[in-house]
Amino acid sequence: VIEIGQPEHSVVTTCAYCGVGCAFKAEMRGEEVVRMVPYKDGKANRGHSCVKGRFAWGYTNHKERILKPMIRERIEDPWREVSWDEAFSFAAAKMRGIQKKYGRDAIGGITSSRCTNEETYLVQKLIRAGFGNNNVDTCARVCHSPTGYGLATTFGTSAGTQDFDSVEDTDVVLIIGANPASAHPVFASRLKKRLRQGAKLIVIDPRRTEMVESPHVKALHLPLMPGTNVAVMTALAHVIVSEGLVNEAFVRERCDWSEFEEWAAFVAQPKNSPEATAILTGVDPKALREAARIYATGGNGAIYYGLGVTEHSQGSTTVIAIANLAMATGNIGRPGVGVNPLRGQNNVQGSCDMGSFPHELPGYRHISGDAVRDQFEALWNVKLNPEPGLRIPNMFDAAVEGTFMGIYVQGEDILQSDPNTSHVVAALSAMECVIVHDLFLNETANYAHVFLPGSSFLEKDGTFTNAERRIQRVRKVMTPKNGMADWEVTIGLARAMGFEMSYSHPSEIMDEIAALTPTFAGVSYAKLDELGSVQWPCNEKAPEGTPVMHIDGFVRGKGKFVVTEYIATDERTGPRYPLLLTTGRILSQYNVGAQTRRTDNVVWHAEDRLEIHPHDAEQRGVRDGDWVRLKSRAGETTLRAEITDRVAPGVVYTTFHHPDTQANVITTDYSDWATNCPEYKVTAVQVSPSNGP
Ligand code: SF4
Repeated sequence: VIEIGQPEHSVVTTCAYCGVGCAFKAEMRGEEVVRMVPYKDGKANRGHSCVKGRFAWGYTNHKERILKPMIRERIEDPWREVSWDEAFSFAAAKMRGIQKKYGRDAIGGITSSRCTNEETYLVQKLIRAGFGNNNVDTCARVCHSPTGYGLATTFGTSAGTQDFDSVEDTDVVLIIGANPASAHPVFASRLKKRLRQGAKLIVIDPRRTEMVESPHVKALHLPLMPGTNVAVMTALAHVIVSEGLVNEAFVRERCDWSEFEEWAAFVAQPKNSPEATAILTGVDPKALREAARIYATGGNGAIYYGLGVTEHSQGSTTVIAIANLAMATGNIGRPGVGVNPLRGQNNVQGSCDMGSFPHELPGYRHISGDAVRDQFEALWNVKLNPEPGLRIPNMFDAAVEGTFMGIYVQGEDILQSDPNTSHVVAALSAMECVIVHDLFLNETANYAHVFLPGSSFLEKDGTFTNAERRIQRVRKVMTPKNGMADWEVTIGLARAMGFEMSYSHPSEIMDEIAALTPTFAGVSYAKLDELGSVQWPCNEKAPEGTPVMHIDGFVRGKGKFVVTEYIATDERTGPRYPLLLTTGRILSQYNVGAQTRRTDNVVWHAEDRLEIHPHDAEQRGVRDGDWVRLKSRAGETTLRAEITDRVAPGVVYTTFHHPDTQANVITTDYSDWATNCPEYKVTAVQVSPSNGP
């Protein structure tokens, strides 16, 4: 950490890493950050922080940051620095040229869960109103899109049900497919505190995570085989139904009874019993029965989940299965219970709320709805297209087919983040205009024609929405080093394309969001400054926000039970690829490491390793620390082995923080049936000794 003298003033802002949304006081000397101090009045963190938010902001000053717009005619050409105006004119001419040649729908864009609500809102507005189509998607496509689908289907709204404070009333914590100790550390500390006070812990995860190993916490760990979440959740439901543990009063009052009966008859079938599914899931039936009984009868039961649920071919089905379980046991609609997706990036919730999906306007309203479209058309002064646009994978497919030729990518490295890297390369190479708006020349920028420099969270005003629907202010502590705030960049591009947008401050963008989005109707910067933060829905009915949802009834009316038949992924092990690879994160790194790897501190540079069980390592002649070749049907990479019984025989695990590891070269093309969220968490692989990369 480099400290620069004593601070002269401080500004309260919000961490730009994970979905916990810790508030910090940026202590400043002039335009330099002296230190980031966790803010004691931050409602999501109460004065706590993790190592990333506190120390990993140095990337904002990193020498690799690009501060001037750049253009080039062909990707083989060298970059040429130009003025903002020239960059906008060049980009606009290319995008308009594509539309003239290939049609209105041949361009689109991707919003970022790293950016503010206001920035995201403007990008989708530019695409819907300026491009004239709905080809907008978000990087949340590859992480929590199944959460959106699953929770909207069952409860009626695409968001977690509780606030973080709710954990203090929890008696049973059920974590599935998440490792909060690494990925959401500040919330994990609150969880652990509650567990030390006596709450029970059930962890459903292929790996013995830090939560399971946590001292003073006794966890019931169900180490399932990757890809079998639905079978495990249905087996839990089987026990609850067949042992008479359903909260019938709750279900009769709050849910559709006939749908419940259909679901109950399905889960009660013998094929869904813990014993019948044991070979498939790898979970001891006794442990499964015990877990079901604890969750159903142990008092307030709260479920927390992460990408280990969503990034599967049955990601949406698992989210629905989780919701079924919470409804069947009455664990919804009061403090201490609920269904809580732990969002990875700082503004996953917000980017989804802001209309980043091709079928939904802000506030999750379908684009085909005439009344909703009328409202937006009146305020935006345009005619909107009622047809849903392309999702990210459809954009790539259309590019390869020659019908989608231009893209504006806001704050995401799609080449590193999306599955099947070679297909993404083919798609980007086929496009005639790729506009990358980012801090660094990322891997995607290798295929770009326009680079628009972005600004870091320290240089912007706006809001982020964390995993508990909490909208918090991000405050500018220094002038944008690139000379233009991100919201102004989007406006510049829109203007050059002939679509006028005019705001003098992000607060005006929020006012427009509030005017058009019922769940945000009561949100304003004045209110956020006064209250510190609010949780949506925030409107006339709930002027100070809504910490816990679905108290008197579900947003959709009656809670909906849905039958969740387990369907095995098409990704299968076999003699050539006998092991299953799953992935996760470490505390000190963040996603593909674009920011944490550019922070001066050796701790950030821990390499990605392959965890392998001693039995599997011995069979392959692999010793601890050896280089191994990891090969799937899609590709291969090389990394060092770590021998550990944290993973079961037959399962291997790695992180994906370093570009050299290229974990997405390995992953497959399979995706969630409902949302196309890639199946990152299950890949059949072979492991063999290697001499190194
Ligand atoms: Fe930032 Fe998340 Fe760490 Fe809080 S827990 S400091 S939001 S990375």
